Amino acid sequence: ADTILKKPNWLRVKLPIGESYKHVRGLVDDHKLHTICESGNCPNMGECWGAGTATFMILGNICTRSCAFCAVATGRPDAVDWDEPQRVAEAINLMKVKHAVITSVDRDELKDGGSIIWYNTIKAVKALNPDTTLETLVPDFRGIEEQIQRIIDAAPEVVSHNMETVERNTRKVRIQAKYHRSLEVLRLLKVGGMRTKTGMMLGIGETKEEVIETMKHLVDVGCDVLTLGQYLQPTKKHLPVLRYVHPDEFAELREIGYELGFDYVESGPLVRSSYHSEMHVVKGYGR
Ligand code: SF4
Ligand code: SF4
Repeated sequence: ADTILKKPNWLRVKLPIGESYKHVRGLVDDHKLHTICESGNCPNMGECWGAGTATFMILGNICTRSCAFCAVATGRPDAVDWDEPQRVAEAINLMKVKHAVITSVDRDELKDGGSIIWYNTIKAVKALNPDTTLETLVPDFRGIEEQIQRIIDAAPEVVSHNMETVERNTRKVRIQAKYHRSLEVLRLLKVGGMRTKTGMMLGIGETKEEVIETMKHLVDVGCDVLTLGQYLQPTKKHLPVLRYVHPDEFAELREIGYELGFDYVESGPLVRSSYHSEMHVVKGYGR
């Protein structure tokens, strides 16, 4: 039988309220945009939306994949919306943020994997917001170099692609993905001159040694920024939490990450890939 672990007190978060929150809420709705903050039921919505920022999810809100941790719906996505890049750019303009994060669902059914919308979005955001820095959290594009190259050509300040978990757990956590293919995506992005970033969730059956092994693989492909956070189960149908990792262990892993050579490590129970993203742009900011 499933054991339900009790949430420790370090995972209690404030509810989103306030004027900035309402402003972001209005922009998202008016521009018919989706956010991973809402789809993922992120515990930081109070903090991020309250500070006037959110992570937009482009290419619709239906994904062709079915990762076992993810609350985004799986199915046949809607037709590509060619106006979406402009609406994202406008929303970011109205949010007046210095830094924005964009992610997407996976569109494995499209010939270009969604890479053209990705390119157009980055370009539209840059054109309308020349001073805003951008992190793009991209899919693996099935490892197809031509598609990955479109991201490099659009030149966002940071490109992230999440490993999500250690090698042994990859099939369980993201069935359609491959551990080494994701490492290769990060390597190609680095070779293309990008500042690269990845994220992992802890508490889904990995050991500390495996996390460290993955960190070494990431350093080998030149990955600059690493985020480590606690996995939280979005609904009962998703992977159960097997362990609540103590803040001290997150702190220890942060130190190990720096020793291994990452430029920036963000590690803590509430850390999400896009959390504190604005600090991941500048080289050497970590310490
Ligand atoms: Fe959204 Fe990321 Fe902030 Fe969560 S951490 S609310 S997903 S921007
Ligand atoms: Fe969720 Fe991304 Fe997996 Fe799709 S590919 S199910 S959006 S984590």
